[in-house]
Amino acid sequence: VIVISRVMSILGKPASSSTKTMTSSVLPKNLLALDLANRLSVNSDSINLASADFGKLVQSKPQAVFYPSSHQDIENLVKSSYSSTRPFSIAAKGRGHSVRGQAMAHNGVVIEMRSLMNCGNRINVSTTDLYVDVGGEQLWIDVLNATLEYGLTPKSWTDYLYLTVGGTLSNAGISGQTFLYGPQINNVYEMDVITGRGETVTCSKHKNSELFFGVMGGLGQFGIITRARIALQTAPQKVKWVRMLYNDFSVFTRDQEHLISIKNNENGLNHGMDYVEGSLMMDIQLSSLNNWRSSSFYSKRDYREIISLATKNDGKSNIIYCLEVAKYYDDLTVNTIDKELELLFNGLSYTPGFKFTKDVSYVDFLNRVRIGELELQKKGLWEVPHPWLNLFVPKSRISEFDSEVFHGILGKNRCSGPILVYPTYRNKWDERASAVIPDEEIFYSVGLLQSSGLNDWEYFEEQNKEILRFCDKVGIKFKQYLPHYETKSEWVNHFGAKWDLFQRRKTMFDPKRILSPGQRIFN
Ligand code: FAD
Repeated sequence: VIVISRVMSILGKPASSSTKTMTSSVLPKNLLALDLANRLSVNSDSINLASADFGKLVQSKPQAVFYPSSHQDIENLVKSSYSSTRPFSIAAKGRGHSVRGQAMAHNGVVIEMRSLMNCGNRINVSTTDLYVDVGGEQLWIDVLNATLEYGLTPKSWTDYLYLTVGGTLSNAGISGQTFLYGPQINNVYEMDVITGRGETVTCSKHKNSELFFGVMGGLGQFGIITRARIALQTAPQKVKWVRMLYNDFSVFTRDQEHLISIKNNENGLNHGMDYVEGSLMMDIQLSSLNNWRSSSFYSKRDYREIISLATKNDGKSNIIYCLEVAKYYDDLTVNTIDKELELLFNGLSYTPGFKFTKDVSYVDFLNRVRIGELELQKKGLWEVPHPWLNLFVPKSRISEFDSEVFHGILGKNRCSGPILVYPTYRNKWDERASAVIPDEEIFYSVGLLQSSGLNDWEYFEEQNKEILRFCDKVGIKFKQYLPHYETKSEWVNHFGAKWDLFQRRKTMFDPKRILSPGQRIFN
């Protein structure tokens, strides 16, 4: 008899709990016969950890948690479910940094992928062919540190590096480098994937490409990534990290679009920016400029001036837009970098006197969010609910989004957390991948990264719903990033023209619908 305490919060309702006694486990007996039993845990600590995620909005209990010590262990687990008359669901969990239960497996098995860390070195750099082979469980920070030992680095990043390779490739992996190199899924040469049939397949653009493209941004639906081969390039040593402030949204976005349009030359050398993002400073953030995205960037004096800029804003609006860019350099370019930047900034229309520059190491730049995380952890403000909403908004509607959502819905309400806005190019995304983006050449990534208290996350959820309702009403053809939907028709709408292919791929690679049930697409 297994007693399962089930705490399941259906979105929009507060977490409710009920206790259910089951007379038999959904896990088949042959699982215990395999050499797997000692890697399965039903210990309450393990179950509780696997029932929660970074979002703290949803809880869902698995029957057991699996701690693999090899690729083979995972293959055996999936085979065991696939061959059972009562297949059980399986979710690979990276760091559980999803916000809506995407890495959970209600009544199934959660695989703690990080347990593969105990089976030797799983980051191998090829200096001749410029790639790194990494386990799906590896954190990007560890990939960065390992490749830097050879003077090399991946090209495309997320803002925060304590995420797993398998987790970000299941979504896309975006940041201020996406306009230049595409998302992380566009920088993968090859993968080892365990499909929902329990078969290990090596795939790439040219070999088993259907699986390869399916898995890229495939929300964990087609297979478990156990190895990814990621493209590398020579690493720079230093970074000029610059923020410029604006109080006019159209000028801010015009300058962002100008900066991403500066092309590489014929030798592949980048003469434009290496990173372009942007964010909003709303009222509340002005009083806490040192949120986890801004931590330690501004001095106290800068901070006072920024507040005065906000209050001087002619009474029009107290939103300040912050254009954030970076340009990499090294010993060879140390004497020319300032001149280069001056040329790049020529013609930009930021508010005079409001350009702030920092000179940091490449690692410190890429790992910038970590400092803010540690500060919030100390204050007990990291482990709180995160009712996040991430959208891709077509360029043609971004100004309306600014006036109706940033000034309208958010302006009227409370706002608590970073709000990111930056443009990227559709042609940097491979159309064959599962990830979906708007149908316009330039679109904006908008991240509403709210944090809430334990009791007011529903307030922000309602605000998110209002934003989505507004977009639907006026016909803004956005796509959710890190998507979450409640109904099948919403998923069909999300995938649009890709839905039939997505379904076909599911039938091909996970016909028993075993994998990543927490995405709630097929179950
Ligand atoms: P999990 O949340 O554990 O898993 C996510 C999904 O992937 C689940 O469906 C899971 O089943 C599946 N999965 C996990 N591992 C594997 C695997 N090996 N094979 C197949 N499927 C797998 N995203 C960005 O793109 N850019 C950012 O800048 C960014 N910043 C972030 C900052 C913070 C502080 C946080 C919390 C998240 C951020 N994210 C960002 C979102 C992040 O990419 C997602 O949370 C992503 O899911 C990675 O988290 P994870 O590794 O913990 O994956």
